[in-house]
Amino acid sequence: MDCIFCQIASGKIPSDIVYQDKEIVAFRDINPKAPVHILIIPKKHIPSLDQLSPAELPLMGRMAAVARKLAKQEGITETGYRLVVNYGEWGGQVVAHLHMHLLGGRKLSGRLG
Ligand code: 5GP
Ligand code: ZN
Repeated sequence: MDCIFCQIASGKIPSDIVYQDKEIVAFRDINPKAPVHILIIPKKHIPSLDQLSPAELPLMGRMAAVARKLAKQEGITETGYRLVVNYGEWGGQVVAHLHMHLLGGRKLSGRLG
């Protein structure tokens, strides 16, 4: 499997990992768009939100819970932050392994698209 995020999850490619449990890993984005830019991913290779089975959907909630915890840890809960999940070409998904962006640490633009 040559998926870059699978290789990060397994430690084959080094990254700045900030959280890890048995099903989720979070690490800093290599090209941060904000002072805090963390990617939260399942360890299991799931290509995108659209490929999540109904049984796997609660994983999104657990990823959001990790994002919330990391936001606290990073000290951005008071000022606020943004969670983003891109899907497909027009949605701007580049890496085909489900991931949630946690962005904060500066006032983000009001633009969503
Ligand atoms: P997407 O556009 O697919 O939603 O976001 C993919 C994100 O992954 C981008 O923000 C990009 O900077 C990040 N990224 C791509 N390759 C790597 C990598 O090898 N290491 C890390 N830490 N982030 C990566
Ligand atoms: Zn993968």
